[in-house]
Amino acid sequence: MPAYDPNNIFAKILRGELPCHKVYEDDRAFAFLDIMPRAPGHTLVIPKSPARNLLDVAADDLAHVAMIVQKVARAAHTAFEADGVTLQQFNESAGGQVVFHLHFHIIPRKEGVAMKPPASEKEKPEVLAEHARKLAAALAAG
Ligand code: 5GP
Repeated sequence: MPAYDPNNIFAKILRGELPCHKVYEDDRAFAFLDIMPRAPGHTLVIPKSPARNLLDVAADDLAHVAMIVQKVARAAHTAFEADGVTLQQFNESAGGQVVFHLHFHIIPRKEGVAMKPPASEKEKPEVLAEHARKLAAALAAG
């Protein structure tokens, strides 16, 4: 497997070199909205450690990220009045991965509503800002 590339898009977001709509942050994990959501509220949760994907992440970093994935999934379920939540996580190009910093997709789902195809369209910044606010509020409410 190739080495971790510190210039991947999510590493730049973590360093504050690129903007994002942040939903959550602690000392080891970060969550922000996907710029091309497959459904409203589509969030990405990542470790701060430089892991390429599930295959190289340290077990304790993975365990922490998993805990945050659950927190964000619960908040998304509430904030978006979802009927369910889809998780996705891809490893290497053959596994569907495009950005090579470990990330979990959290996608709130409504009964009978299909997800948009991957990378179909960029959401408007004002919509993402409102969705990030809703999610952060649901997270703060516990
Ligand atoms: P994956 O590697 O899991 O296949 O896909 C990467 C995901 O990152 C896609 O869902 C894509 O929409 C999202 N993405 C790509 N570039 C950016 C970006 O610059 N900002 C944000 N917030 N998401 C991005």
